[in-house]
Amino acid sequence: MPANPHFRRVRIILGDQLNPCHSWFNETNPENLYVIAELISETQYTRHHLQKISAFFMAMADFASTLKEQGHAVCHLTLDDTQQYKNFTELLTALAQDYQASHIDYQRPDEYRLLQEFRTLNIAATSIEEFDTEHFLLPFDQLGKHFKQGKSARLEAFYRRLRKQFSILMEGENPSGGQWNYDSSNRKKFKARDLELLPEPKVFSNDTTEVMQRIHHHNVACIGRGHQQLNLPTNRQQSLEMLEFFCVNCLPNFGDFQDAMTESSPHAWSLYHSRLSFSLNTKMLNPKEVIERAIDEYERRSDIDISQIEGFVRQILGWREYIRGIYWRNMPDYATGNYFQANRDLPGYFWNAETRMNCIAKAVTQSLETAYAHHIQRLMVTGEFTLLAGIDPSQVDDWYLGIYADAIEWVQLPNTRGMSQYADGGLIASKPYAASGNYINKMSDYCRNCTYNVKSRSDEDSCPFNSLYWDFLERHRSQIGNNPRLKMAYVTWDRFDQDTQAAILARAGYCLNNLETL
Ligand code: FAD
Ligand code: SF4
Repeated sequence: MPANPHFRRVRIILGDQLNPCHSWFNETNPENLYVIAELISETQYTRHHLQKISAFFMAMADFASTLKEQGHAVCHLTLDDTQQYKNFTELLTALAQDYQASHIDYQRPDEYRLLQEFRTLNIAATSIEEFDTEHFLLPFDQLGKHFKQGKSARLEAFYRRLRKQFSILMEGENPSGGQWNYDSSNRKKFKARDLELLPEPKVFSNDTTEVMQRIHHHNVACIGRGHQQLNLPTNRQQSLEMLEFFCVNCLPNFGDFQDAMTESSPHAWSLYHSRLSFSLNTKMLNPKEVIERAIDEYERRSDIDISQIEGFVRQILGWREYIRGIYWRNMPDYATGNYFQANRDLPGYFWNAETRMNCIAKAVTQSLETAYAHHIQRLMVTGEFTLLAGIDPSQVDDWYLGIYADAIEWVQLPNTRGMSQYADGGLIASKPYAASGNYINKMSDYCRNCTYNVKSRSDEDSCPFNSLYWDFLERHRSQIGNNPRLKMAYVTWDRFDQDTQAAILARAGYCLNNLETL
């Protein structure tokens, strides 16, 4: 066996650090070895969707090939090569020895768990250096200016500061179009004519045969359905094509239908959403380039109005950067917050979609099938239900972290535990995102084909969201009863006569006692 060549620096690249524009790659250096490694521990910290793991592994392999083509020295290791290593520490220790490296370089992980591991690396005769990922708009060391541990920070003020700081959609000191936020015009529901105009979703046909064999061979426990053709983008070229497709075909209607849901179209799973989250979170795309490309399209066309582009920019410049700030300022405590002391088990239909609640069945089926659901499905269907039903937030977190291809803890956790479950006691949301079935009925056509009656609160066939909503408010009156944004809801509840209240609470009691069979 030839001895391993000697590299002065081993540079590890994680599966969500596939940023081809990183300054590490500006020039080739024969002293640097880039390592991209599948690791069993990264497949096991929760039960992931099969398509999620496949997509990560395929994107990592593609990135390794690209770097090689550019002339960099690359070591791409699969599960077959790394099965003896329990974690990155063991792997890097072995690599430093094998290649007689005096330096290990890493890019700062976006996950608390991994940052702890990397910052405590201690490998004999090796110096360890941390680099920025060069991905987010807001530098890591500026997060403290906007976020304080344990203190609420509202999106809107943060978003406006970033618009100004990065001069995005600004005319001098003022927001383009005269308004900062067009959220109120982003609430259209689909009519029959709108459905006919939905674009056919852009999908890819990446062959998963090899990677799925490897996943099965190593007995990686997964959820969801695998497909031989993976529709997710697994390299930068495909990610750029997704971006192009979105700007040309979806952006003109993005804002209008941002909150809408439907089951009446074969394209219902994708609608006008970008499905760029996997490409962004693996860093195959940079958020700034996504925003710039979308603004370029807006400026060139007369059929894209300000509310569409503002709605899109707010998601990426606003929500995405904001969520990251909340995460880093509040970890590790954030991961255990449970403001409502919710402790029920997640019902089995979150894993098999076998429920009579049509909205949940649709959202879960789609998630198992595609490893994707859009924001309102996550927030106002599945998340809404677990909030009202008082499901243990750790189980809710696990489900979201596993099932979506874009789920990485820094972005999944604040969205789930904070925004959707209010388990952080309001660091993100100014009130819990609690609503009755009426909201789902307003924004979708799910209720038409549901066994339950969305108009009823207490009958035997009444929509579970209805009674659970009122029960939730009553159950947590001491914690949220004084919230000014819930004042009207409590006034309405208090105006119900005693019999009505008793009937609603009885129906809620039945639902909670029979969660598994709803
Ligand atoms: P689009 O609707 O096209 O939006 C464009 C982009 O904006 C997204 O790609 C995403 O990068 C960004 N974005 C939008 N909303 C958010 C948000 N709330 N937080 C962060 N970025 C946002 N997003 C993830 O990337 N990973 C997750 O694990 C994740 N878990 C979530 C869990 C819950 C309970 C909720 C309510 C939301 C979660 N989100 C998560 C946020 C959001 O739902 C997804 O980013 C979005 O659905 C991805 O689809 P898209 O690319 O089509 O988004
Ligand atoms: Fe969901 Fe209730 Fe509508 Fe059925 S009636 S789809 S459970 S909101």
